[in-house]
Amino acid sequence: MSCAPLKDNRNSLLMQASLESKIALVGLNRRELDTILNVLKEPSFRGQQLFGWLYRSRVDSFEDMGNIPSGLRKSLEEKYRIHPLKLIHVTGSTGESTRKFLFELQSGEKVESVLMKEGKRTTICISSQVGCAVDCDFCATASMGFQKNLSVGEIVDQFLLVSKESTAPITNVVFMGMGEPFLNYDRVISAADLMNAEKGIKLGAKRITISTVGITPKINRYAEEKHRYKLAISLNGASQEKRLKTMPIAKKYPLNDLLVAIDHFSSRSRHPVTLEYVLMAGVTDSKEDAQKLMTLLSGRRCKLNVIPYNEIGGKYKRPGDERIEAFIKVLEKAPFPVTVRWSKGTDIAAGCGQLAVMESSVNN
Ligand code: SAH
Repeated sequence: MSCAPLKDNRNSLLMQASLESKIALVGLNRRELDTILNVLKEPSFRGQQLFGWLYRSRVDSFEDMGNIPSGLRKSLEEKYRIHPLKLIHVTGSTGESTRKFLFELQSGEKVESVLMKEGKRTTICISSQVGCAVDCDFCATASMGFQKNLSVGEIVDQFLLVSKESTAPITNVVFMGMGEPFLNYDRVISAADLMNAEKGIKLGAKRITISTVGITPKINRYAEEKHRYKLAISLNGASQEKRLKTMPIAKKYPLNDLLVAIDHFSSRSRHPVTLEYVLMAGVTDSKEDAQKLMTLLSGRRCKLNVIPYNEIGGKYKRPGDERIEAFIKVLEKAPFPVTVRWSKGTDIAAGCGQLAVMESSVNN
């Protein structure tokens, strides 16, 4: 008798373990779902139905899959789960324009996404890795080090789970959360393909932006493969020396090679690349920096996105508004479009480069 509670506890632990070892369906494409259904000797139209339930109807349980026969639902439930991620914390209330979402992976690590609403546009900023290996000196994610690549499902599930929390449909996706997307290239492209898929999430390719620190071989591959997603590249310095000051990766992928890759991309793509440039006080924000930037980019088909630095308590500071305006003024004569990203959510550490999951941020 006295053993009974122990046994119950053990059973529930075993059940939990088996749920955790189940493979998640979110992240699988049509072909992969078809393979699962083939093994179960199901007709091929079931693949389309299952795809629709996962990505269009975005159900959370097998029970909700109305037109899937109950026997099949049961067989699926025995082996699979729907979501690879669990939403464990939201910062910011429903009405707020910027909110941050914390997820737990099946393996226990945590990642964040940010949802930003502005007019008709609702953008999700998603993570592609747990932590980051690139080590940009100014970025909070770098302090986590690299932990792991996210799977296709873990990337797409950020979109699916946040879309349920959003008061408006998500119109844009930016791969600008934790991690370096081009160091998890194949999964990031497959995730973008799933978000773009006609009979699923169906987000237009131009509404998906992949931002890379400048991994030149992958930029070349991306250009060759002719993907239609928008490409953004973090320049953050107008010379090799300046880039090297804050981005050690510039040693492996020097500016000259990066410019060749940018030009190669431009020659293959119908759409201009966006170059991101973070303004850090006393480092990248002088009028001379602006002039050099203009010279470097003139004659190139590109857009420039200037990002005033979001402070993370380290050595870099955001320039004052006057200095930001003076920088932009120099670029007024630029032959390419220039925009300023006034980052949202800096009050909840959800601005560009402020994402880092520390145990203290998980517990409150
Ligand atoms: N690894 C990718 C995507 C993540 S960072 C990349 O480097 O592009 C997304 C953008 O935010 C990059 O342009 C990066 O330079 C910028 N960024 C990083 N930390 C920042 C900070 N603290 N303030 C403002 N922008 C930052």
